[in-house]
Amino acid sequence: MIKKIPLVLSFFVFLFCMNLSVFGQDYCLMVGYVYDNLLPTIPPRDSVDPCHADHPGTLSLSAQCLRNGQYWAIDWKFELIQCLASGGDDPCWETGCHTHPREWDTERKLLTSFGGLRTSGNYQKLLEINQQGLVSFDVAKPEASGVIILKVKAKIPAGIRTDNFWRMNRGWHPDYEDIDFIYTSIEFPFHVLGLVELAGPINEANPDRSYVKVCGTTNPHTEGGNYYGTQAMINNLVELAEEVRTLYKESTKNLYPPNGFDVKISFNDLSLMYGGIYDVVGDWECHPEGGGHWYHREGKSVDPNSSVCLVCDAGQTGCPSLSSSSMVEIIKKDGTWHDPMSVKEWIVDIASEKGFDELHPDREDRIHLELE
Ligand SMILES: [Zn+2]
Ligand SMILES: [Zn+2]
Repeated sequence: MIKKIPLVLSFFVFLFCMNLSVFGQDYCLMVGYVYDNLLPTIPPRDSVDPCHADHPGTLSLSAQCLRNGQYWAIDWKFELIQCLASGGDDPCWETGCHTHPREWDTERKLLTSFGGLRTSGNYQKLLEINQQGLVSFDVAKPEASGVIILKVKAKIPAGIRTDNFWRMNRGWHPDYEDIDFIYTSIEFPFHVLGLVELAGPINEANPDRSYVKVCGTTNPHTEGGNYYGTQAMINNLVELAEEVRTLYKESTKNLYPPNGFDVKISFNDLSLMYGGIYDVVGDWECHPEGGGHWYHREGKSVDPNSSVCLVCDAGQTGCPSLSSSSMVEIIKKDGTWHDPMSVKEWIVDIASEKGFDELHPDREDRIHLELE
């Protein structure tokens, strides 16, 4: 018995020393970020060029490594990578509905599609910081919606990577491609939330709706992912369509008795499912003169189709489909008549009562309604 006491004591001494050596060194990696929201960067509408924001929205990121309670100078690497779509129920969550690749070869496309990591005034996709104990910098939010991943790497000597080290640094893993480093990932889900789909089928003249959706699948974005708006937007568009349908039938009863004609207004693009830039061509640019989109980012934009603006329901003899510049005679809600006017003028007139601005006042062949 007597001999056993020193053994037990020495065992506790051994444990005590081990505690000092393992816990007392206090290896600890931390990465944190501060943000007000995870909205994509939206350029101000009054910009000279509202295609791209001059100043991206940012969130602040800091990373530090402590040893014995002191900042520990190690090397860091930070890299933005695109989240690959999982192909689940909602691929637009990852991709933002962009089926074309993100681009990072030029500064502006990098900021538009990926966002960026800021050092000394400019943004890049990869940032290496050597021998800093505490690092902090801004991460630019992209103009596109979707999930972007930031891979954070820290150079930690292999001998320090004990079981206890991994316990204290959960979420970090050995980087087998870059063996001096360990890594962790931070997901940034950039989305305009709360957008709802304008319901109803595409390109059919006769379903039970007061409108049709006319955009097909000719652009590199998820099919059907381009008909999203705020709930107020969707409500207003349905009201607009019903009013157009009712008044047109009433008006044409006089001209084409006894029934007049049933027409639907046809809508082109609204916004993508989670907002953000909607680069129709798929090159992260806007092309406003070629039918691209400056806005269409927050669920408050719609382009009524201008070439076939009013579509006749099937089976009506003599009903003409009308473009935005076709002239029409329309009865008002109070029973009096408008002077002859173009379809565009008429639709813009009704839309303005519902809070819409029209953004192509000089062109009869283009309509963009923006909900204020
Ligand atoms: Zn796109
Ligand atoms: Zn538009």
